[in-house]
Amino acid sequence: MSLKTYRAKRNFKKTPEPIRKQAPGTDLSFVVQKHDATRLHYDFRIEFKGVLLSWAIPKGPPKKAGEKRLAIHVEDHPLSYGSFEGEIPAGNYGAGTVEIWDKGSYTAKGASGKKESTKSIQQGLQKGHLSLTLKGKKLKGEFDLVHLKNADRENMWILIKRK
Ligand code: MN
Repeated sequence: MSLKTYRAKRNFKKTPEPIRKQAPGTDLSFVVQKHDATRLHYDFRIEFKGVLLSWAIPKGPPKKAGEKRLAIHVEDHPLSYGSFEGEIPAGNYGAGTVEIWDKGSYTAKGASGKKESTKSIQQGLQKGHLSLTLKGKKLKGEFDLVHLKNADRENMWILIKRK
C-alpha cells in the first residue's frame, strides 16, 4: 500500500491533515468522518496493512437492516488520519470541516484475529466483496461492502447493513 496519491493531492504546509503512516495497534480500527466539503459526505475508513482503505459515502452509512448506500472507493489514507478532526483550509483538496462521526474496531468475516482479518480483507478486495463486523458506537453488527462491477465507474461500491 502506498500513500503516493494521498500525498500528491495535498500541500502539508497548508493543511493540518497528517502526512505519515503510523505503527498499527493491536485491533484493526475503523472510523467514519463526517466531511462537510463542497458536498457533505461521510468517509468510511478501515485499517488494512498500516493504512486506511477509504470510501466516500454521500448519504452516510446505512442504519437499518437491508439498507444500501453508494460508497465511492477513494485513495488510501494514513492510519493517523483516523484521529484527524479539523478544518481543511479553503483552496486545498477537500476544503471544509472534518469531524469523527463514529469509530471503533472491526473484524472481517471468518476471522478470529488481526492477521486473519487482514487476509480476509485481501481476499475480499480481490473478489470485490468484504464482509465486516463493526464494533462502533453508532455502527454495530454486520455489513457488506460490495463492488459494483458493471457501474459507469470503476470505483463504485455499495455498503449494506445485513439483516
Ligand atoms: Mn472526504
